[in-house]
Amino acid sequence: MDADLPLDLPRLRTLEAYLNGQLKTIREAIARLETQEAPADAEESWALQRMRSARDRPLYWLHRSTCHLAKGQRLTRAEAQAALHRPGVRTCDACRATDGLIAE
Ligand SMILES: [Zn+2]
Repeated sequence: MDADLPLDLPRLRTLEAYLNGQLKTIREAIARLETQEAPADAEESWALQRMRSARDRPLYWLHRSTCHLAKGQRLTRAEAQAALHRPGVRTCDACRATDGLIAE
């Protein structure tokens, strides 16, 4: 047994409760940081995919960046909203690219 630990049950229980509390706090801090990072960023970005088309009639598909079909230039929300008004831009139904861009 580790010489640094108390030998009696009440103090071991107290130490166990304290360390469980510390572990819970650390795990909550880790979960907070993990949810703030990549997923939030990905949900708030779009991709504009240029399709093969006649040079004078450009055709694009607008996707959420998380869409499995998404390729091309990454856009912010404001850029994606602006892209909706450009000629030849169509929105992907698979990823519901317009969700969050158009007021309903
Ligand atoms: Zn899509």
